[in-house]
Amino acid sequence: MSDDWNPRTRAVHGGTRRSQYGEVSEAIFLTQGFVYDSAEAAEARFLEAGPDEFIYARYGNPTVRMFEERIAMLEGAEDAFATASGMAAVSGALTSMLRAGDRVVSARALFGSCLYVLEDILARYGVEIVFVDGTDLAAWEAAITPGTRAVFFESISNPTLEVIDIKSVSTLAHAVGATVLVDNVFATPVFSDAIAQGADVVIYSTTKHVDGQGRALGGVIMGTREFIRKTVEPYMKHTGGSMSPFTAWVMLKGLETMELRVRAQADSALKLANAVSGHAALSRVIYPGHPGHAQHALVQAQMGGKGGTVLSMDLRGGQAAAFRFLNALKIAIISNNLGDAKSILTHPATTTHQRLPQDQKDALGITPGLVRMSVGIEDSDDLIADVLQALAKAE
Ligand SMILES: *Cc1c(COP(=O)(O)O)cnc(C)c1O
Repeated sequence: MSDDWNPRTRAVHGGTRRSQYGEVSEAIFLTQGFVYDSAEAAEARFLEAGPDEFIYARYGNPTVRMFEERIAMLEGAEDAFATASGMAAVSGALTSMLRAGDRVVSARALFGSCLYVLEDILARYGVEIVFVDGTDLAAWEAAITPGTRAVFFESISNPTLEVIDIKSVSTLAHAVGATVLVDNVFATPVFSDAIAQGADVVIYSTTKHVDGQGRALGGVIMGTREFIRKTVEPYMKHTGGSMSPFTAWVMLKGLETMELRVRAQADSALKLANAVSGHAALSRVIYPGHPGHAQHALVQAQMGGKGGTVLSMDLRGGQAAAFRFLNALKIAIISNNLGDAKSILTHPATTTHQRLPQDQKDALGITPGLVRMSVGIEDSDDLIADVLQALAKAE
C-alpha cells in the first residue's frame, strides 16, 4: 500500500487482503466467527486482537476491513467503521460520542431520518439540539457557543442543494472545541476534501454513489483512529449496526468504478443543467456546478468546481405539472435513491418530505413544483432529449 497513490489507484487496490489462494476479486468471508488454534489463543485475542485477527463479525471481518481501509484511504481519513446503512452511520457517530446535557448545533435542512435522530431520539436522551440555517455563517457563529460538543450538517442539502461552507463552520466549531460531523453524501467521496477542510468525522450512506447500482444498503463513519476505535467501534459492535461481509464486498466492487461513474454523472448533470436552464416550464434550476448557483464560488473552492450528480428543477405549473413531467419520462425512472447508474427522479413534497409541516416545506424551499433528479450514467444526449420531451408535456 503506497501513500502516494492517486485516488483512482486507491479505489482499486486500497486495503486488499489476499487469502492463500491469491484470488483477484476480493474474497467474501461470509462467516460470523473465527476458529482459534487453542484456548490460550482465544484468550489472547479477546485481550487484544491484532490487525489481522478477528473475533466475531459484529466486531469486524476481513471483507469488511478491506472496505473500511479502502474507503478511509480514498477519503484521506485515518480509519473507518462500516455500518449496515447510512442511518446506522449517522446515528452511530452521534450517539457514540454524545451524552445527556451536551449541546449540538445542526443545519436545519436535513435528510428526514437525520432530523428524526436529532430532534426525536437525541433530544429524548437530554441532548440539546439547536438548528440553524446552514448557509448563514452569522447564525452558526451565534449558535456555536462555548461548551458546544458537536456540529452536524449535510455538506450539500437535500433537495434544494444548498452548499455548507465546511472550512468556515469548522473554524467556528474548533474555536470552542466542538467536533465537526459532516454527512457528505451529495458531495460524494470523489469530490470531497472534507477532512483537509476541517471536518473531524465524515459520514457516507454507501447505498448511494459507493454501491452506485442500487443493490445494497450500507454506510461508513470515518475519522481519527482514536475516534473510530475508541468511541465508534465499542458503540457499534455492542449495539449491532455493523456492515455484513456480503455488503462490504458489493461496496468494494462499487468503489473500483465509483470515480469513473461519478465523474461521468457530474458531467451529464452539468450538461442537463445547461440544457434546461431558462426553460419556459421551469421557474428555477438548481445545480451546484452551474455558474448560476447562488454559491458557485464556494463550490469552486470546496469541490474543485464540480457540482455532484444531483440537480433540482422547479416546475411553474406546480404539483400537477411536476407529476405530468415525471409520468412522461421514458428513460429516467421515478424512485427515491440517488447516485445510481440509472437516472432517478423524485417529487420531494409528496414523497421523501411528505410528512414535513407546510411551514417547514416553505422554509426549506420544497415547493409543489420541485423535482429532484439524480443523474445516472446513461448517454447524456439521450437524457437531455428525455427531459426536454417530458418538460414539453408538462407545460
Ligand atoms: C440516503 C441518505 C442517508 C441515509 O442512508 P441509508 O443508507 O438510506 O440509511 C443519510 N443522509 C443522506 C444525506 C442521505 O442521502
